[in-house]
Amino acid sequence: MTHEPKPVAISIMAHPDDAEFSSTGTLLTWMNEGYDAYICVITDASAGGSDDATDLSAAARQVTVDTRKAEQQESARRLGLKGVIHLDYPDGRLYPTLQLRKDLVRVLRTYKPSRVICQSPERFWGMPLGIARYHPDHMAAGVATLAALYPASQNPWDFPELMTEEGLLPHKVKEIFIVGSPQPNIAIDISAVFAQKLSALHAHASQVGAENPELDKRMHDWAVELGERFNMPMAEIFHRTENN
Ligand SMILES: [Zn+2]
Repeated sequence: MTHEPKPVAISIMAHPDDAEFSSTGTLLTWMNEGYDAYICVITDASAGGSDDATDLSAAARQVTVDTRKAEQQESARRLGLKGVIHLDYPDGRLYPTLQLRKDLVRVLRTYKPSRVICQSPERFWGMPLGIARYHPDHMAAGVATLAALYPASQNPWDFPELMTEEGLLPHKVKEIFIVGSPQPNIAIDISAVFAQKLSALHAHASQVGAENPELDKRMHDWAVELGERFNMPMAEIFHRTENN
């Protein structure tokens, strides 16, 4: 009997908790359908300390990094992820450099996902603009990830050293799901996994609190509102495209 490898999905996000806010309901849904899922966190989250902080030393930053990595691990445990990939770029200073593109291509060629979730490189000019959604790191992450997805991951001539020195063969990702897109075109029903999504979000206790009924209500209402647009009880929404 041969064992087909499971299909893989990766959510590539700038910060810990970005995936939990936007798209872990979808990862959970796919896991229930037989996918292995990973979250790739691009930054080290070192700028995620308290807004009232007065100690801004390197040591204080390191405490934040360690705390947030531990929280991401706990979230991964609650979600049942296969793993978390940390790229450890400095938080708050992300730029879509060629180095970042190469590091993302390495992730894509190593884990070989057929589905990738990433952040939007463009703002949605709703009324009013949801400014916190479009942290500059999110937009840089979106630019870099889309550039890594096409063409670099599937093109051996891009970053040839990844193949010649690291043995990483080109990999073509089939489906791309963009969160925060100005033009969403698909919704995933998350009503069956919403409680688990919320539990994983609360693993990021330094950011959202281990318990936070007000946030829970907001997340619930948001999922219902997104679902209504697509005739579903609760949803996460994306711009989905195929890489043909
Ligand atoms: Zn973020």
